[in-house]
Amino acid sequence: MTRIVLATHNKGKVAELHRILGPLDVVGLDAFPGAPDVAETELTFEGNALLKARAIAAFTGLPAVADDSGLCVDALNGMPGVLSARWSGRFGAATGDRDTANLRLVLDQLADVADDRRGAAFVCAAVLVVPGGVEHCVEGRLRGTVIREPRGTGGFGYDPVFVPDGGTRTTAELSPEEKDAISHRGRAFRALAELIPQALV
Ligand code: IMP
Repeated sequence: MTRIVLATHNKGKVAELHRILGPLDVVGLDAFPGAPDVAETELTFEGNALLKARAIAAFTGLPAVADDSGLCVDALNGMPGVLSARWSGRFGAATGDRDTANLRLVLDQLADVADDRRGAAFVCAAVLVVPGGVEHCVEGRLRGTVIREPRGTGGFGYDPVFVPDGGTRTTAELSPEEKDAISHRGRAFRALAELIPQALV
């Protein structure tokens, strides 16, 4: 069976991809000491995911899967977007709790935005790069609304302030299985999983 490398050290993502890709042999970057830590310097999710997957496919010689994701807020013209993890900059980093600083900054930026204009989407680009072979890129989206105060203790990042369309709970109030079933990452990885068998022949 062909081994696939997931270009992340994040054990949660490796576990998530294991659940979605089922029988395929997926390993994280922890199995490859010395693998390059690729900076996310592109302006799109797809660009960043491709940077990571190409670098890891070249380093390992194995098919590599990478993703990049973030929150795109309509009233902020699609930002924080690719800057989601670093939105509060060095000020957020100095607080020791970047996720909370990022989320608070978005809430402050939307303070004067009316309830019916607080639309947003979680977006994820997932890519597969086969050394000397094909490259595939797919995107998953979850539309929703940014509420005014955080709710819930699950998930991470902006989950406590994001209510998916058609629901009443934030993604931080969903179980991991409920979130996987509708999330941008779940959708993108499931779409990519369908392309993998053909890409590896
Ligand atoms: P990355 O794709 O792991 O680089 O994540 C980028 C950033 O986007 C995270 O640090 C979060 O701030 C945000 N983000 C991405 N996916 C989610 C999600 O499912 N829930 C909440 N925040 C997310």
